[in-house]
Amino acid sequence: MRVHELARELGLRSSKDVLDKLLEHGMQLKNHMSPLTEEQEALVRQAFPSGSAAQAASQPVAAPEKKTVLVRGPIIVKEFAEQLGLKPNQLIAEMMMMNIFASINERIDLKIAQQLAEKHGAHLEHEKKQIERKPVTKAAEPAAEPTEDRVEELATRPPIVTFMGHVDHGKTSLLDKIRNAKVAASEDGGITQHIGAYTVTLNDRQITFLDTPGHAAFTQMRARGANMTDIAIIVIAADDGIMPQTREAIQHARAAKVAIMVAINKTDLRGANVDRVKQQLQKEELAPEDWGGTTICCPVSAVTGAGIDHLLEMILLQADMLELKSNPTRRAQGYVIEARLEPGMGPTANILVKRGTLKVGDAITCGPYWGRVKALISDKGIKVRTATPSMAVKVLGLTAVPEPGMEFQVQANDRVARDMSEKACAEKREQEIAVAPKRLTLDDLMRPAAAQAKDARKLRIILKADVQGSLEAIQNALAGIKSDKVQLDILLTGVGNVSSNDVLLARASEAIIVGFHVSKDDGVNAVAKREGVEIRLYSIIYELLDEVRNAMVGLLEPVVKQTVVGHAEVLQVFEISKKGKIAGCRCTDGRITSRSRARIKRKGEVLFEGALNSLKRFQNDAAEVREGQECGLRLDHFSDFQVGDVIECFEIEKIAQQL
Ligand code: GDP
Repeated sequence: MRVHELARELGLRSSKDVLDKLLEHGMQLKNHMSPLTEEQEALVRQAFPSGSAAQAASQPVAAPEKKTVLVRGPIIVKEFAEQLGLKPNQLIAEMMMMNIFASINERIDLKIAQQLAEKHGAHLEHEKKQIERKPVTKAAEPAAEPTEDRVEELATRPPIVTFMGHVDHGKTSLLDKIRNAKVAASEDGGITQHIGAYTVTLNDRQITFLDTPGHAAFTQMRARGANMTDIAIIVIAADDGIMPQTREAIQHARAAKVAIMVAINKTDLRGANVDRVKQQLQKEELAPEDWGGTTICCPVSAVTGAGIDHLLEMILLQADMLELKSNPTRRAQGYVIEARLEPGMGPTANILVKRGTLKVGDAITCGPYWGRVKALISDKGIKVRTATPSMAVKVLGLTAVPEPGMEFQVQANDRVARDMSEKACAEKREQEIAVAPKRLTLDDLMRPAAAQAKDARKLRIILKADVQGSLEAIQNALAGIKSDKVQLDILLTGVGNVSSNDVLLARASEAIIVGFHVSKDDGVNAVAKREGVEIRLYSIIYELLDEVRNAMVGLLEPVVKQTVVGHAEVLQVFEISKKGKIAGCRCTDGRITSRSRARIKRKGEVLFEGALNSLKRFQNDAAEVREGQECGLRLDHFSDFQVGDVIECFEIEKIAQQL
């Protein structure tokens, strides 16, 4: 038997009584659904003799007991419908009658859910979050840290840098050159370790480089919620110039709103032409500083090492401008860069600290996992006691292998960490339901619900086309859609098929992908499905424009217009045992339709507003009743009619706003 079943059987107010009783006896159960041992069941029965099964048995034909529906966490339409024994569509329809428009995966407000449950003869028991239900003595709880830091607690932290750019332009070579020149030669020695990032020191200041270059990795992390980079360095080979992937990298960095610098590499080659690259940069709106722009451009050579120190100095200068700060004194928080199971070490996670200081012995949670930090290993392969903001370390001691991009957080102690990890496990399941459908699709946008989302008045698109000419034509046409209310933001434009990178950028930026005369690269469908990104392909330009325009309109909340269609007066009230009361009325003007909503007015005062439940004429269901005709009607959630009440029927119309 489970906790809630026993509570119901014993006639207790809620399952919490059972959980509390067991806790008094040192038995902590997880939740309402936990199974009970015979011993636990006996103990509870003994504790609540008055409402015991024996008593229940002596009243065999009591009024049918209300079914209890237990919901933990957010109340989701689909699950809630199942719990009420309804089809999701039925529930959605009922909610529409209440003027609530929700899709199958959306959350329902608690009050509304309670009303719906009552309507179906059930009682809703809602547990907000499992963790909050555990009776913990507040006094013993270590104080939670405030989420915001005070200004005086903030200290400058090293910048975190990612190299991006076209293939073969020298990203990896630059990373290696800097690592070899700076890390291996540094006095703390050690053998360099690949832990996803490394830190170099220049003039007593530090810079952290993320080890995986390229915008795919960068955007993939961002799509997972891990915004780790402060400065993106676009690497351009001086002999090759700006190439398609260079442009893509620039667009990805821009979409992420990170600072952009340029390293013009391979300056040792004969064919190197730095000025030509600078000229190209101007066209990309990245005019170099020495050409009157604001972009820092550093000529370098990953082979000879020329310009590397200057590049590092410029990174520090850029960091100064960004005023990167973090509080090193709080409990650490950051992201997993990569993680694996290592022989002899168990699960290891290479993490990057964003705030606070991570220490050996800390209790840490990482997504649904937790652990106690057994050891920290630096990028020099040395065991360290602490890791400060912007530092990457390998962490030993987690109970399982987390996923890259997951956030880690140090907790007050082991118990809190374990509780948090349990909670995260429960929430993970909820997120699987709630987050996945949150990605944007054009159809979503055309639905008014999207209008409620914050920042929804910006439609972000990624545009791909077959040739540069059509790309420009579409961009011009899109620019012609004028609207003061909705902003159209073209995040990336490109010639060629829709790629997995496009999908990742769309996922990270909540954008949709629009293609013209292009198809999808192999494997893109699977990535798009996994990431929940919508790709729309067109071969007719007007169709593309129309749909984008419709999507923009969809972002605007429709104007709701109410039209009164008729009135009826209550002549007689009929009491019908189970189903409540029916008002016998005459339509005094206009018409009453079964789809209308009604307002009950008594002496001019509005008593209730709701949907009609049924409309009958001479025992038969009627779709409409006209002036002078008599009818019987019933409402949802109201039956306190009196003779003389006026029923005002109205219809609601939603009118799309103009752009
Ligand atoms: P990535 O694809 O951007 O990571 O490029 P790599 O770092 O793998 O470099 C591609 C090729 O360019 C390799 O053969 C490198 O040796 C070469 N390379 C990289 N940087 C330089 C440079 O500064 N000068 C010269 N001459 N060759 C370079």
